[in-house]
Amino acid sequence: MRADVVVIGAGALGLSTALQCALRGRSVVIVERHLAGSQASGRAAGLFKSIQADELRTSLAQSSIEKAISFGDWAGVPLEVARSGSFLIARTARHKEFIRAEASQSRGWGADVSEAARGDVASRVSYYRESGDELAIWCPSDIYIEEPMSLVRAYVAACRLHGVELLERDPAVGVLVSAGRVTGVEVAGRLIRARNVVDAAGAWARQVAELAGGRLPVAPVRHQLLITAPSPDVDPAGPITRVADAAVYLRPARGGLMFGGFETAPLPVDPRVEAAPFSTADVPLDLNVLRRLAGQVAAEAPLATEGPVAEHRGGLFTMSPDGRFIAGPVPDVPGLWAASGCNGSGFSSSLAIGAELAEWITAGSPPRGLAALAPGRFGAMTDDVLIERGIWQYERYYEPAGASPVT
Ligand SMILES: Cc1cc2nc3c(=O)[nH]c(=O)nc-3n(C[C@H](O)[C@H](O)[C@H](O)COP(=O)(O)OP(=O)(O)OC[C@H]3O[C@@H](n4cnc5c(N)ncnc54)[C@H](O)[C@@H]3O)c2cc1C
Repeated sequence: MRADVVVIGAGALGLSTALQCALRGRSVVIVERHLAGSQASGRAAGLFKSIQADELRTSLAQSSIEKAISFGDWAGVPLEVARSGSFLIARTARHKEFIRAEASQSRGWGADVSEAARGDVASRVSYYRESGDELAIWCPSDIYIEEPMSLVRAYVAACRLHGVELLERDPAVGVLVSAGRVTGVEVAGRLIRARNVVDAAGAWARQVAELAGGRLPVAPVRHQLLITAPSPDVDPAGPITRVADAAVYLRPARGGLMFGGFETAPLPVDPRVEAAPFSTADVPLDLNVLRRLAGQVAAEAPLATEGPVAEHRGGLFTMSPDGRFIAGPVPDVPGLWAASGCNGSGFSSSLAIGAELAEWITAGSPPRGLAALAPGRFGAMTDDVLIERGIWQYERYYEPAGASPVT
């Protein structure tokens, strides 16, 4: 078997990169150990966020939102998107200062965000009781996808429409390297020849890079969310709410409320040392973490603490040492590309990252700005340092890059 590009991993990042390579006329095969979307991507909250910590991420976020809304036009397959908008809220003086600065800098990079008037949150968000003392930033462009598998299914359908071959339950067990460059992928007893291989293996991306002798610094870290049973307190058409000082997010989901958040000292999980066969379903969940986070917004969003839980799910973020995506050529292994380092927003950003990376693979030079995300930017690092930095980034998800820790 032969292809121009083999993508390892059929999560959001792999599917998007495969689709975009196919749209650029390349023959593409995806190999997936389990089923498409069965790991992190199918468990995502589905949120898209237009406020980002730097200009490149802001433009990638905007491009992703546009691509999600217009998916049917360019990919040829319909995709339902909730164009809800979002509020970013701060209740402490320090966080008010921080989100005001973040909104102002985002506006400078073209994001459509503005300070909400008092009463706006109360009038638009049924599940959140505004105290009157918070600062809220209104982000009208923010969207969400109700069920993350609907994006996965749309990617798969679009991939098939454009000639991509998807091999499920077919893990890559080797990456072939000959005369100093990648020449293909080995799957159970067969070889797929290709001059370009994309490592989009999510929490397993490090292992896959190591199959080719490459190095990819990603630290998988657990993240969880819950969805309450349907409640009359939740208007399904309401917006997303993020509370920066509590590091939590909320949105309508299945008639109830989705609640997720970023704890301090999150659980790192290294699939390389877990007993095989390890999958996301084996990541231990802890509802107490979410209960503690919800306690911080108990007065404003009581449903998050009191509502009966209809679903509790979780999976792994792939954190990078600097909190930015990892997309580009893997150093010292010509022909091997990485689409990883999701840092908690790989589901939404997959739309733009896949397009930009496919452009780089097929055109041979990086689209504007993307070189800054290449994996070669990191030096050697011990596992301990990698995990420490990944956790540091996770704990500060709602803070701008380089911010000092919140007290
Ligand atoms: C609870 C939760 C909520 C989240 N919420 C959001 C959100 O609201 N917005 C957002 O943007 N992001 C969110 N994320 C993050 C998002 O889910 C991830 O960033 C994104 O799904 C990563 O996509 P991926 O393709 O890299 O990984 P995955 O979806 O994990 O895909 C990687 C695939 O590679 C396969 N694979 C691994 N090894 C091999 C091999 N050797 N051979 C073949 N296949 C292999 C795996 O089976 C897997 O299917 C959330 C994550 C979690 C866990």
